[in-house]
Amino acid sequence: MTFTLSSLPFDFAALEPHIDAQTMQIHHGKHHAAYVNNLNAALEGHANLQNQTIEDILRNINDVPEGIRMAVRNNGGGHANHTLFWSIMGPNGGGEPTGALAQAINSTFGDFNTFKQQMVDAGVKRFGSGWSWLIKDASGKLQVLSSANQDSPYMDGNTPIMGIDVWEHAYYLKYQNRRPDYLSAWWNTVNWHAVAANFEK
Ligand code: MN
Repeated sequence: MTFTLSSLPFDFAALEPHIDAQTMQIHHGKHHAAYVNNLNAALEGHANLQNQTIEDILRNINDVPEGIRMAVRNNGGGHANHTLFWSIMGPNGGGEPTGALAQAINSTFGDFNTFKQQMVDAGVKRFGSGWSWLIKDASGKLQVLSSANQDSPYMDGNTPIMGIDVWEHAYYLKYQNRRPDYLSAWWNTVNWHAVAANFEK
């Protein structure tokens, strides 16, 4: 079995003006595609890994043979992170979550704006490339954290609920060096129904 790049669940231009179509095209069609191709190349001949889900591979990253572990960490992480990222964005996004997710955010962080500010701060302060995350830890508690490069929350025993890509490739064409502006605009693209489904899983 090989991993495949799924189509985006919306048009490249669907997130305009917050994220431009050209960025989406390159991000999905070149960057994410390369992670998938490089992951498949690394896993060639490793049938036991090819038959696992990407989440299971990342949860047990230390069981991956040392010779391919870094390639699987970077490209497998890249594949899982971007698959989640596309699934939690969409046209007519934004606003605030409702229901059980909203209650959990309020009881964990105080209120929605405090949570949002923590996500933004985690992304702004991440030096170089990485991600800002809302995760559920092993005990089921929500936390905001960030990761470097394509490291996945699964590698630390956490389950990602939502993530924001803060690699320059996610925003540079439109926002250049202004990562905070991208992070501020990004919230207009969130599909809270998808995030809530991840939380309730
Ligand atoms: Mn990316």
